[in-house]
Amino acid sequence: MSVIYNRVALIGLGLIASSMFWAIKRRGLAGEVTGYARSVETRNTARRIALCDRVCDTIAEAVEGADLVVLCVPVGVMGAVAKEMAPYLANDATISDVGSVKREVIAAVKPNLPNNVHFIPAHPLAGTEHSGPESGFAELFDNRWCLLVPGPDSDSTVTARLLQFWEGLGANVEEMDADHHDLVLAVTSHAPHLIAYTMVGVADDLRRVTDSEVIKYSAAGFRDFTRIAASDPTMWRDVFLNNKEATLEVLGRFTEELFALQRAIRTEDGDHLHDYFSRTRAIRRGIIEAGQDTDAPDFGRGAKR
Ligand code: NAP
Repeated sequence: MSVIYNRVALIGLGLIASSMFWAIKRRGLAGEVTGYARSVETRNTARRIALCDRVCDTIAEAVEGADLVVLCVPVGVMGAVAKEMAPYLANDATISDVGSVKREVIAAVKPNLPNNVHFIPAHPLAGTEHSGPESGFAELFDNRWCLLVPGPDSDSTVTARLLQFWEGLGANVEEMDADHHDLVLAVTSHAPHLIAYTMVGVADDLRRVTDSEVIKYSAAGFRDFTRIAASDPTMWRDVFLNNKEATLEVLGRFTEELFALQRAIRTEDGDHLHDYFSRTRAIRRGIIEAGQDTDAPDFGRGAKR
């Protein structure tokens, strides 16, 4: 694939930015990639592992002359970071982000940008529970979705170029509006994360089951919850505070269904439980058929060991 942007600036150098960098290099999608992170530690780590062609000590230097700038920082600081870089953006530059929430990010970023740039928000639906500059890898976005959220007045050629860039990173790309994005993500990612956090917290609270037993006998279901619950606390705090409405709506429905299942157990309504679990099993099959997970037993973990 050929160069899509002459200079890409990655602001924030964690899991997503570092994966973007390695994926850009894999296909030669940019002439040069600059990077900026707020802490000296992260910038030094980036330099040591050759993450970015040029790691800059200021945001001004990183975005200077960039035709694509991607905000890869937690959702809660997107607005402040946009404000900080605004005076230094190149005329006609495309500004994007990778935030897990869209409506609040757009509301925080857009007013801080000058009129001579194009803002096309994005969200790659790919991640791991690891964070930081050393956690990225080139294949993270392969065959995963990336949702673009252009506004009603976005220039279609600018959006098309960003779409081509994300396809070059390995993703399948679709456009979606911000509110719909936030609801879909509340169902598929945000509420499940909160449930995992709760389950791991409950197990930890149950003093009858000691911590060591929880760890020693950790079986598949709980072990998968612990993996999700190990995700970055700052990122997830910001996701819930910024996708409040949709997450609370989904959790309301979740609570109702949980009560119904609780009642079915108490009243020994086996049919209800069986029907419910048959329906959920079909959803799992659908995810595998859509190529979004592996059918291997134990998620393929056994095969790797
Ligand atoms: P990460 O690995 O924790 O990296 C975050 C980066 O943001 C770090 O370089 C950090 O700088 C910087 N940062 C943190 N607070 C900042 C602040 N107040 N001002 C300026 N920079 C700050 O995070 P990530 O997983 O790559 O996530 C980045 C974005 O991608 C988030 O918006 C998240 O919602 C979204 N996202 C994440 C996933 C996922 O699964 N992880 C998936 C899709 C989208 P220092 O290192 O110097 O502290």
